Amino acid sequence: MGLTYQSTRGGEAGVPASMAILKGLAKDGGLFMPTEIPKLDVPMEKLGTMTYQETAYEVMKLFLTDYSPGELKDCIAKAYDSKFDTEEIAPLAKADGAYFLELYHGSTIAFKDMALSILPHLMTTAAKKNQVDKEIVILTATSGDTGKAAMAGFADVPGTRIIVFYPKDGVSKVQELQMRTQKGANTSVVAIHGNFDDAQTGVKKLFGDKSLEALLDSRGFQFSSANSINIGRLVPQIVYYVYAYARLLANEEIADGEQINVVVPTGNFGNILAAYFAKRMGVPVKTLICASNDNKVLYDFFTTGTYDRKRDFILTNSPSMDILISSNLERLIYLSTGCDAGASAALMQDLSEKGSYTVTEDMKAFMSDFAGGFATQEENAATIKRIFDSTGYLIDTHTGVAATVYEAYRAESGDRAKTVIASTASPYKFSDSVMEAIAGPESIRDKDGFEVVDALNSLSGVDVPAAVEEIRHAPIRHNTECDVDKMEEAVKAILGI
Ligand SMILES: *Cc1c(COP(=O)(O)O)cnc(C)c1O
Repeated sequence: MGLTYQSTRGGEAGVPASMAILKGLAKDGGLFMPTEIPKLDVPMEKLGTMTYQETAYEVMKLFLTDYSPGELKDCIAKAYDSKFDTEEIAPLAKADGAYFLELYHGSTIAFKDMALSILPHLMTTAAKKNQVDKEIVILTATSGDTGKAAMAGFADVPGTRIIVFYPKDGVSKVQELQMRTQKGANTSVVAIHGNFDDAQTGVKKLFGDKSLEALLDSRGFQFSSANSINIGRLVPQIVYYVYAYARLLANEEIADGEQINVVVPTGNFGNILAAYFAKRMGVPVKTLICASNDNKVLYDFFTTGTYDRKRDFILTNSPSMDILISSNLERLIYLSTGCDAGASAALMQDLSEKGSYTVTEDMKAFMSDFAGGFATQEENAATIKRIFDSTGYLIDTHTGVAATVYEAYRAESGDRAKTVIASTASPYKFSDSVMEAIAGPESIRDKDGFEVVDALNSLSGVDVPAAVEEIRHAPIRHNTECDVDKMEEAVKAILGI
């Protein structure tokens, strides 16, 4: 039956893709990994003639081997439709000496839509295949974008409920409004009095709580995850890197086999890990440039080999990257040990008990395809302004981190390989910060969120996306808040158990 999945900590193996997607996290707290990373079985030239949806099928069929072709094609057709405001789904824009891969044309205008448009369909198909009769409760911690994208995907999907936890003071105004106005009888949103790491740690704890699991089971519920720890998020994200390379080739921007670099603004390490998987599948990628904001735990890791989360958490103007525990790094760690679950589990134990771990020289060498960089808020704002002033192209603050890091990387390394920058959000999602960057602090003083949106629109000429227009007059539907140590009570109250 082909590929199966195993836990990075050794507690589960031989799990079919559909079950791994349903479970989200392995029983031992580890992340599911495929037994191998398959190679693309269609030549790049042929992929260059395919639509996004066809490319998605060619990539996903190799990982999700227990889905029938019909099931998979059906999920893809339902996900990548007119919810996206461009037929290409993930268009490339050439600007400032790089190719910006715009991953924000979905219904919530951030790259999370790329995977969360399809995850609900993969999950409900998986439930049917595996005769799951329980109601699936999606628990999600969000740094702002996952929460909205997951709710948009799961809203009113029969047999599912979704509960989202976000840091009360850690998201942008547009992000918060998007979540608090979310429709759907099965959606719930809780603002926690803490940061994203608190939310993510709290959710992981609920997943690992055996007595809660038993209680849920007795009441007809079962948890799953829409966070990027779910393999059903990672696999759809590989698609757009394959697609981007194939488009560049078809458009004669690159020669067949020419190596490119990829720059990814990184938080939880999900998006860049997908780029790494694309490389391992055969996409000619040279260097994976991991761009961090002031929370530069990954930059420090790639430069020193020590991952150390014992530091202050900094709230920045790229809030979706304000993260100190990058969960998906565990998957790269696992690969770098030669898939030694014992060694990976020991490092993860160090992280939770001591707050840090150090990899061996061999592991570090394994990761030499990665380069780390970081950008301060001031540098980020200066880059957004420079690119806008010199080219008229407008980028958001997360993409600004990536563009800043790329500029520094190019200057320092002399590496002139053609480069794709993952553009992860619409500038309108972070209107205040983007407007401030290009027009100065005066331009946003005493303006409410939508006045800034309109000012940004007249200054830039970039259309305001439907996702922003939608929330202009939408009523607030969610008002729940809770302390970090009361998340379990909040979940029980929402489920009425
Ligand atoms: C989530 C997010 C990121 C970080 O992606 P990871 O997969 O968590 O590394 C970057 N930019 C935006 C806009 C995001 O929403």
